[in-house]
Amino acid sequence: MKKSIKKDDFIPKSSKDVKVLQKHLGLFGYLNYEDRGFDPGNEMPPEPDDKEADAMESISIKEGDLDDNTVQALKKYQDFHGLECSGKLDVNTLAELEKKRCGMPDLGEYSTQGNKWNKTELTYGFQNYTSDNSLTPAKIHAAIAQAFALWAAETSLSFRRVNFSSNPDIRIRFVSGNHEDGSPFDGNSGVLAHAFYPPPNSGALAGDAHFDEAETWTLNIPTGTGKIDLVTVAAHEFGHSLGLRHSNVSGSLMFPSYSGPSRVLHADDKAGIRSIYGGYSIAHAQWIHGTSIQIEYPERLERITRAGFYTYLYGKPNTKNWFHFAIPTPVIVDSKRLKIVCAILRFRTFSSNAIVKHIHIYDGYTKIAAHNNINLTGNNWFAKYGVAHKPSIYWGLGISIGVEFKGGTAKNRRMDFVSAGCDLIK
Ligand SMILES: [Zn+2]
Ligand SMILES: [Zn+2]
Repeated sequence: MKKSIKKDDFIPKSSKDVKVLQKHLGLFGYLNYEDRGFDPGNEMPPEPDDKEADAMESISIKEGDLDDNTVQALKKYQDFHGLECSGKLDVNTLAELEKKRCGMPDLGEYSTQGNKWNKTELTYGFQNYTSDNSLTPAKIHAAIAQAFALWAAETSLSFRRVNFSSNPDIRIRFVSGNHEDGSPFDGNSGVLAHAFYPPPNSGALAGDAHFDEAETWTLNIPTGTGKIDLVTVAAHEFGHSLGLRHSNVSGSLMFPSYSGPSRVLHADDKAGIRSIYGGYSIAHAQWIHGTSIQIEYPERLERITRAGFYTYLYGKPNTKNWFHFAIPTPVIVDSKRLKIVCAILRFRTFSSNAIVKHIHIYDGYTKIAAHNNINLTGNNWFAKYGVAHKPSIYWGLGISIGVEFKGGTAKNRRMDFVSAGCDLIK
């Protein structure tokens, strides 16, 4: 998409502009009732008397002409993206059309595609890696585990990395241009990635996620100009791999366009994934009060106060610190070793100058999950941090919280920790 539509044109006059618009509307499902979900075309032809099949035919448009069907499709696009449904290429619509986005189509009344995995223990593997920004396989493994952990924290699903040769459920590739699945990538910007819905559609491709190697991927926050956050896009694509379609809720992870890093689920994403797989059945939940927090560098705090069951802390300006919670964790209950779903924190920060940047989860000395560069501020009264592979717990849970305090008044540099806990399953 990008720069082919002129911003000062409210209604396109040249047929070239309209063709660009129509191509965009066609690619992302607005000129086609059917969400083909990247099925590479092995469907049976529709029966002639099948009413549903009629509705699945493409909408006919005249190429280069802003005809009624194109205007109707544009209105649907505007509605989905929360824009004024003018049917005109106004400035806001042009800005939305030019955004970087996912390659999957938008249409569909429901947030789910219909298919789901018929097992909860899923595997994933890498066919290859990107080497952008010196990303090593180890860094990419951590980033992808972080993305899967978002979905693991809300459902009974677990995600374990295996070698590519052992035929993982979800196969991850970095590819550019035509990569022989019927949906070629478009070079830098525009479409960033796509994924395939769960079986049975798409055959062996079901669940797979492809990332456009023509993009410059990064794990740094801020990303730097033109670079794309791999964790954010991966988490979105895995939503498709699990059966979610695009959401029209602005701010949700499943919104079709990319507007910078967002490494957490929105309430709408949680509702969507739970509508497919349900939640998880808690065998044991454990909590500890905020007063038990341990400070790695006490000299970097201006003040620390323990009040009732919580602790509030004022960081010195421009400091970083680590805070730790050790959760007394039952590891064996009724002769069964428990597994971890997620750590949970209840905290707030008083401004964007007091930031929770990283949350690492340990079982004894083994780091089992890392939520890096999540940059949380404000009220976080029940935030879950999943562990993608949901391992058995052996030595007890530790939560390490990387924080940063910037400048401003003392109050701007305050954060309160109320409690920390975890959900365990059998
Ligand atoms: Zn998408
Ligand atoms: Zn592909």
